[in-house]
Amino acid sequence: MLLISSLKDIHVTWHRVIKMPDLTSHMSGFKYSDIHKIIYPRRHEGIYKNRGDNPWVSVRIRQGVGRDPSKWFTDQLRTLAEVSRRYGDGRVMLGTRGDVEIFKVNYRLFDEVVSRLKAVNLDPRDSCGNSVRNPIPCPSNHCPLAQVNAEALSKFIGDYFRYKAEYEGPSAMPHRFKISISACERACAIPVAQDVGIVAKGRDTFDVYVGGGIGEHAFSAKLMFSGVKAEDLLPIIVGAIEVFKREGERRGFKWVVAKYGIDRVRSMILDVAGKVKQTLPAPDLSPRFINTRLIKLHYPTGWVESSELERIADIAGKHGLGYVILFNNQTIYVPVRVMSSELNDVEVKDPGPFSTEGPTTVACIGSELCPPGLINTTSLGSRIHIHLKGTNRPIRIGISGCTHDCGMSWVSDIGLEPYGFKTRILITLGGGPTELGYVVGTIDPMDAEQAVDLILNMYVESNSQSITEFISRVGVDKVREVLAMRIPSFKAPDKSISSVFGPN
Ligand code: SF4
Ligand code: SF4
Repeated sequence: MLLISSLKDIHVTWHRVIKMPDLTSHMSGFKYSDIHKIIYPRRHEGIYKNRGDNPWVSVRIRQGVGRDPSKWFTDQLRTLAEVSRRYGDGRVMLGTRGDVEIFKVNYRLFDEVVSRLKAVNLDPRDSCGNSVRNPIPCPSNHCPLAQVNAEALSKFIGDYFRYKAEYEGPSAMPHRFKISISACERACAIPVAQDVGIVAKGRDTFDVYVGGGIGEHAFSAKLMFSGVKAEDLLPIIVGAIEVFKREGERRGFKWVVAKYGIDRVRSMILDVAGKVKQTLPAPDLSPRFINTRLIKLHYPTGWVESSELERIADIAGKHGLGYVILFNNQTIYVPVRVMSSELNDVEVKDPGPFSTEGPTTVACIGSELCPPGLINTTSLGSRIHIHLKGTNRPIRIGISGCTHDCGMSWVSDIGLEPYGFKTRILITLGGGPTELGYVVGTIDPMDAEQAVDLILNMYVESNSQSITEFISRVGVDKVREVLAMRIPSFKAPDKSISSVFGPN
């Protein structure tokens, strides 16, 4: 139990930073309408308001500066478990950018939580709000196909932007900025959906995709630079961000690319990149392959109990290398050199590609705790995952609670995302790391589970080994035909659907 005096101290700290109103007289909660004054100015510090008139926030956590962003050590897992139990609701949520989030934290204790996390080199800074988010690397250190060290490049890029006032907060950045790094052309880090998606082409050069983004309007990132040398990657990213800031486009960088077109934006970026190049160091990106097998623990819809985190820490400590890997699919991978009989009941994979893994059900927080959430993604995803397990083949379902698409529906094999004024669910099919899904149509939310079940049955009956193969064998029109026949609320795309796409 915390003493009142310590709560007051924390309150004083907040007051100094953001001149917040005195709320200590009604400690049970605050009005949702106060959110802009209290939480928004600090969102880049990793804080996000939970749904409702209450004092709860979530804390989204990245690795600290100077650390491999995908590697989470056993002491960190234990601290996350303890912090979530003590300050939150005893669960953590695995994000889709290698982050972890804790919910239902009293906002007055945010600074205290941050200091607990920092003691084990975890840091929420620049995981939310207008900031340069975690440049998510594919797990290249555990993949024999890797041409470069994606984790090292991610650390190099991430550290450059972190804790710099000119790259964080609503007065510095017009919107968030997302980067991913794939260490080979399989592109497991999903470049199509990033502001900047880097893909290694051989050991010495990279392709750079620019202007992607899902949520609100779905834009496919475009190949803007090819044959890029390692030393030119950070200057290009700095150039893109400076152009973005100059334009002040609050809907996101993708709209800058849509406004001016690829050629003009390329020349705007190069103009800045040429000026900063001499001041930026080049990273050492030699690939580093750690040959282990990987215990694969998938958590459909992302929730992990704190006791489970402790169990995982025990496994990684006793049987593994003392760390786990987080990527973009709500799965925890535990590298192990030797399998023990104690681990008979766990799924194990060889080192190698991390897309598409399956059966995988990824979901955002949804209406349980997220203010804009329109559907309960946890409940829907848990029910759907039961159908998915029967398919026994690689497939990823992505479920989002609103059009922001944090569940990455557009880049999933089957995607579900609320759409329109009277909430319906948009179904997409065949999305993946390098392309957005096809729009199948919309349905009533209560029919979403049945729709997915019908699609999965067609997939299995087609004997296809991937959804891409299924689409080319069976066709999206046939899927629409079956859904229309079996689900009265299904509607094929009409003119109104065009609002889900970007202008091109
Ligand atoms: S296969 Fe995937 S995980 Fe492996 S190096 Fe290529 S992009 Fe990375
Ligand atoms: S998609 Fe919407 S409901 Fe889901 S986490 Fe993002 S903002 Fe919240």
